[in-house]
Amino acid sequence: MSLPTPPSADTLADRARAGLRERHGADAAAVGWAPGRVNLIGEHTDYNGGLVLPVALPHATAAAVARRDDGVVRLSSAQADDDWTGRIDELAPGRLTGWPAYVGGVLWALGEAGLEVPGVDLHVDGTVPLGAGLSSSASIECAVAFAVLGLLDVEPTAPTRQMVVDACIRAETEMAGAPTGGMDQTVAVFAEPGSALLIDFSSHRHEAEPLALVDRSILVTDTRVSHELTDGGYASRRDECERAAAELGIPTLREATLDDVTRLTDERVARRARHIVTETARVPATVEALAHADWRSLGELFAASHASMRDDFEISTPELDLAVETAVAHGADGARMTGGGFGGSIVSVVPTDRVEEVVEAVDAAFDRAGYASPAHLLAEPSGGATLLP
Ligand code: ADP
Ligand code: MG
Repeated sequence: MSLPTPPSADTLADRARAGLRERHGADAAAVGWAPGRVNLIGEHTDYNGGLVLPVALPHATAAAVARRDDGVVRLSSAQADDDWTGRIDELAPGRLTGWPAYVGGVLWALGEAGLEVPGVDLHVDGTVPLGAGLSSSASIECAVAFAVLGLLDVEPTAPTRQMVVDACIRAETEMAGAPTGGMDQTVAVFAEPGSALLIDFSSHRHEAEPLALVDRSILVTDTRVSHELTDGGYASRRDECERAAAELGIPTLREATLDDVTRLTDERVARRARHIVTETARVPATVEALAHADWRSLGELFAASHASMRDDFEISTPELDLAVETAVAHGADGARMTGGGFGGSIVSVVPTDRVEEVVEAVDAAFDRAGYASPAHLLAEPSGGATLLP
């Protein structure tokens, strides 16, 4: 099955450099690169102190940057028509909207973290589909942050990488106005090639889990229904989870049991909490299933996860449900919606020799249902953010 392979980091970096020259007449002093991600399991668990298991994609963003001595900031993107021009000292929450908020937000947050960020010309170019639940937002943020590290000659040591993660979370939350739990930025920075990243949001530790997929492929299907994290859905789920934890008198739902859930007075809040409790338990079980190539267990875990998001957390859509059902009916070991929900993508683990069948079946089912054509990509597990020479 030949799904298009995304350009290599070097090729994407060359595109960003060429864009910087064309749009701003500047030669890049540094180029940062960072991947998008697909979460294998653990949805909405990050802000509940739980576990997640994302994989970095080969689809990524490159940011090329050149220093300016006049304090002016000029931002452009190959994926956006509108450029942004302003001053480094005017970057602050509430001052930027749209895509420049993600980029300007990183420049601002790195400054808040203590870096002396100068005026810059900056151009980004990426291959992560925007708004597909594959975290183009963390990809662009972390690429910009790494470009700035390169510009300032700061070594990306482990503490610096963590500073980048925190700055990018601040950029997205405070400048772009999209609350985020931190999974996306953590995997975009700390992913290791060939592995998933198990992140524990109560201890804030993460560990690479090598994936021995052998004859299996991770297939991502973007339903082309664009989610909007800045809409109310994410915030209301987050609020309901906080209410559940408060009623139970615990800091986060990580500490809750299924028994606790039955004590919650509001039926809807109880269902939200049940999703978090069961989903968190499914993450280590999925790590086990992957480690033993136990595709049957993986399929059951993915099915339970999808049902929980559809029925308890109520973040699925008819398109996501149809894609999941069709993928499983045509040979996927397991399939589930992935990302924040309300649109976006599904992830499935498929015997490599059946990927083509799954892709064709989902396309046909969408066509019959009158849905827009979905887009498919193979999630070859990639490494985290880098500085390109
Ligand atoms: P996701 O992270 O799932 O793709 P988000 O809504 O979190 O969806 O982030 C998408 C937004 O990130 C876009 O609407 C845009 O503002 C910004 N963005 C991401 N990548 C780029 C890019 N290459 N160029 C311009 N903006 C981008
Ligand atoms: Mg995002």
